[in-house]
Amino acid sequence: MLSTEQLYHKFLECTGVSTDTRKITPDCLFVTLKGDNFDGNKFAEQAIASGARYAIVDDPRVAEQEPSRCLLVTDGLTALQDLARHHRQTFSFPVIGLTGSNGKTTTKELMAAVLSKNYQVYATVGNLNNHIGVPLTLLSLNEQHEMAIVEMGANHQQEIALLCSIAQPTHGLITNVGKAHLEGFGGIEGVRKGKGELYDYLAQNARTVFINSRDKTLTAMYRERLKSIRSETTFAEAIFYPATKPDEAPVTLLSESPVVVFSDASGHEITTHLPGRYNFDNMLAALAIGDYFGVSPEDANRAVADYNPTNNRSQFITKGTNTVMLDAYNANPSSMAAAIQQFAATPAKRRAVILGDMYELGPESETEHAALGKLIAESNFDLVILAGKDMHFALRYLPKAYYFPDKFSLHNWVMDNPMTDTHILIKGSRGMSLESVVPFI
Ligand code: ATP
Ligand code: MG
Repeated sequence: MLSTEQLYHKFLECTGVSTDTRKITPDCLFVTLKGDNFDGNKFAEQAIASGARYAIVDDPRVAEQEPSRCLLVTDGLTALQDLARHHRQTFSFPVIGLTGSNGKTTTKELMAAVLSKNYQVYATVGNLNNHIGVPLTLLSLNEQHEMAIVEMGANHQQEIALLCSIAQPTHGLITNVGKAHLEGFGGIEGVRKGKGELYDYLAQNARTVFINSRDKTLTAMYRERLKSIRSETTFAEAIFYPATKPDEAPVTLLSESPVVVFSDASGHEITTHLPGRYNFDNMLAALAIGDYFGVSPEDANRAVADYNPTNNRSQFITKGTNTVMLDAYNANPSSMAAAIQQFAATPAKRRAVILGDMYELGPESETEHAALGKLIAESNFDLVILAGKDMHFALRYLPKAYYFPDKFSLHNWVMDNPMTDTHILIKGSRGMSLESVVPFI
């Protein structure tokens, strides 16, 4: 068995790390992982044949076959995490840890855009935010970087604590605490506790925390955490933002061209392409961090104004005379409510919603889908189209809604019933992949 130190020397000989044989690059380090239905050890030989320099394996029989190229460890995943922790410790630049129920990726992208005005920033690619993605993110850091932004996702307790022990953030931000992954966390209190593990880590290590002072849950969480560490000698530096209370963002931000959302303390106007009230808080976070690290307001504002999502999150699409707001990347009760309220307040001739199931709600799924039905009913949309097994529970408040148990019957209906001059909101959990409906509109 190789120690982390020995593995690290091998890692330094490699050009990168991969856990997927379809993504082998010359001289990379292949790490075998195990899932419910696969054992990466089986692919080690193939990875080496495709150009990997070494393969970390945890099956001695596989290691025996290629002793010079296979590096035997007790567990592949633990080895990956240990390597990432070790590599992280070789850098002294700021590492910003980011978690929260909603808006992590958007906030991360905005922060990266702002900070890139002054620094070489490496930020989590896409949504690689779990116990595998965070190590892969850290292992991509090199001497050229001056700052890292690490998105951390979680769906159960102690996950953020583990990711913090690997990423060792020097700075951190929780976007918000809402109803996401209720099943794994055990209810909203559980989510609060689970996300709060980031504050715990930062407090215990006397690091810097950015707190959105507009968010009562976050400020309360911070106070609770501060109290619990008062007896100890360490204190986190707390940066409450925004520094001055900005004017409330207009309720409706639905426009294809950038709109001015607010003026900051010095009168600089912030413009954006991003729709939705919730994106206002995501922007404030990016601006606060930019300000802290010395990015000028002009540069920060430009970075926010130039940011255009292309990832199914808050994307605008024109289809004939219709305007589609495609937010099909994901959905949970908090983000669904935020999107619906914002959409309801948008001036439009005719408004339609195409909404799909919210996943991972466990025993609360029926209540949450029913509550969503009530909210939709109160919003007076011209057309309500629902798809997915649990959306059925929303129907009790929506006698006039069109309901489809799956997306294929939805596609057919949309094709047969063309819409015109309509604003259409599309949103559902990732598993529903409702972006598939767009071609039929
Ligand atoms: P994931 O858990 O999948 O990584 P995430 O936290 O990274 O999600 P994003 O990908 O940035 O979140 O956004 C997903 C969706 O959440 C958006 O399309 C939008 O509907 C909603 N959303 C974004 N920001 C917020 C926010 N601050 N509050 C509530 N909902 C938000
Ligand atoms: Mg994300």
